[in-house]
Amino acid sequence: MSKGIIRYILLGLCLIIILQALTQPALAETTVLKKGMSGKAVESLQDNLRSLGFFNHECTGYFGDITQEAVIFFQKYNCLSADGIAGKETLSLISKFIEENTVMVLKKGMSGEKVLNLQKDLRTLRLFNQEPTGYFGSVTHESVVKFQKNHNLTPDGYVQPATYIKLQRVIKETVKKTKIVIDPGHGGVDPGTQKNGVVEKEVNLDISKKLQALMNSGNYDTVLTRKNDVSLDSLSNNGDTRERRDLSARVNIISENKPELFVSIHVNSNPWNPDLSGSIVYYNDKIPKSKALAVSIQNALNNIPGYAGIRAKNSIRTENFYILRNSSIPGILVETAFITNKQENKLLKQKDFREKISKAIMEGIDEHVASNN
Ligand SMILES: [Zn+2]
Repeated sequence: MSKGIIRYILLGLCLIIILQALTQPALAETTVLKKGMSGKAVESLQDNLRSLGFFNHECTGYFGDITQEAVIFFQKYNCLSADGIAGKETLSLISKFIEENTVMVLKKGMSGEKVLNLQKDLRTLRLFNQEPTGYFGSVTHESVVKFQKNHNLTPDGYVQPATYIKLQRVIKETVKKTKIVIDPGHGGVDPGTQKNGVVEKEVNLDISKKLQALMNSGNYDTVLTRKNDVSLDSLSNNGDTRERRDLSARVNIISENKPELFVSIHVNSNPWNPDLSGSIVYYNDKIPKSKALAVSIQNALNNIPGYAGIRAKNSIRTENFYILRNSSIPGILVETAFITNKQENKLLKQKDFREKISKAIMEGIDEHVASNN
């Protein structure tokens, strides 16, 4: 082909690309894109993730494993709940970055939560051997350069998506996954506590599933004691009452799976004192690691931002609950909020609140696991 023809072809291609960019529909704010979906909106998501550096494949319009992973990396990088589902928050942040032509980079001189998480990741790989501060100084710079050199990346100390994605992959490949059992309390014939349309067994299952999604996108293997609205008493012969057999089955699932730790999720109730609010984490003081775990999770739950004056900050407590008393594995039982408190009853109905509870429990577990390694 002559140079002239090639020039025309290139010009044509450029025009097509520009026209496509101009006519691309903006993502509707209410759309939720997740694994298994396909269509124009997914293609547009892939295209945007590619522009931002989080997606290095062909934009097929199909939301499969690769797209899910790209969404998870984008969410993690930006300190969002990394559930791999592109919901309102994720999509609007992507749109904002695209509109503002934001360059995705963490570098020397910056500070904040993103830097803090980066330092934690570097610490996981033993490339950063001090307390994460959230400030990107010389030490962080040097450890990023070291990581980049180890993995044939340009050793500039800039954490752009390419370096970040490599970092996440290396962590995934090299760090042993921590196994966790998540126990959504009650289920089936046993609704747990209920008030004003809030049913404990449903809240417990929802929070547990959200927690599982978050943990599976991190360095954890998770097992749920129940995935549906069922009671577990038919799984055990141990106990005189249905309730005992149900609890005994949960203890069996925990011990059979040999996890590092377990968390049992519940909702609190105190009809005599509707002023009581906040989360309370219970543990068995005969198992030393359980107390440390309880402290981390309680701390994270007490510090969920935005609930000052609504949710009390409580302390951890010891309690003789069946599941704590009969498990030899470190674990806690968390009463996430009071169904009997007017404001918390409303909160328990909100997806956003349940998500924040899950995220806080995950952060508490993360902190505990990191300080034990
Ligand atoms: Zn309960």
